Amino acid sequence: MGNTAIQRTKRENTPKIGQRKINRANPCMDDFPTPSGTLRAAYAEHHNKMSHIQHRKEANARIIKYKQAVKKKTTLDNKILVRKAQLPSVNPGEYDSNFKKFVDKCFIKPSQSQGIAFSSPGYIAFEALSKTSYGAAVIKALLTNPDYDSFLVGQGSTQETRAGDRVILIGAGFPFKSDKKRFETSRQLILPVAILYHELGHTRLFQEQSEGTHDLPHEAAIVKILENPIRMAAGYEPRYTYTNRLQEGSDDKSFETINVLSGKKLPGKRVIDKSEPAKLVSMTDPRGLKPPHRC
Ligand SMILES: [Zn+2]
Repeated sequence: MGNTAIQRTKRENTPKIGQRKINRANPCMDDFPTPSGTLRAAYAEHHNKMSHIQHRKEANARIIKYKQAVKKKTTLDNKILVRKAQLPSVNPGEYDSNFKKFVDKCFIKPSQSQGIAFSSPGYIAFEALSKTSYGAAVIKALLTNPDYDSFLVGQGSTQETRAGDRVILIGAGFPFKSDKKRFETSRQLILPVAILYHELGHTRLFQEQSEGTHDLPHEAAIVKILENPIRMAAGYEPRYTYTNRLQEGSDDKSFETINVLSGKKLPGKRVIDKSEPAKLVSMTDPRGLKPPHRC
């Protein structure tokens, strides 16, 4: 391999891929979306187990299968789609002022218990969300529809990011748990803005109050209809699985996993077959989806 490309990469300023910056200190964070040619060469040098190109090829094949299968909608998918279609459209000129109003109206003050600090990672992620058409629509609804009055956004003391009928509590270490940039079981990359949009899916914006559940079919519908379109628009792979913890412990009784495409649930932690995104396999199965690099 020619080394000039790698040397040139080292001299360049941090390049941008879409809206994301490459973090060269931790290239594992940035295995997706596809880096530029020079970085790809540097990656291949760093990670000799599987080249980035091979990873991208496999990922593209999965995405094609995902896009075909995801066209089939469940009843829950359709309910979320209907509510999504009812959200107001927003002029981009309103984005900034609406975000300020949203902070004033809904954010728990930093001085209070579960307050969210100005410029904290959670605050910044909400700000990023407010600058997107889908996020701006949600924020405008929260500001203008009396049905959403008393909606609160705060930061909890546990690592989990949670939501209820009229509340979102972001996790203490948001967006990552214990410095991990990937979901614990699937090991797919986390996109913070998509996490916030997912959590909004558990509020009355997207769910009937009577539904108010976090069961696996709801999780799958939220991932499919709200979270994955954003991930894919940002160049990330869609999430294929969702794993719930049911109780303390690490055995199969403690977890349950759903496949987002097939809706099939299995006990324990599971991942997809890396060539068949609608199929669940055990974590130790050699066909299972793994991060592209040793991280
Ligand atoms: Zn959820």
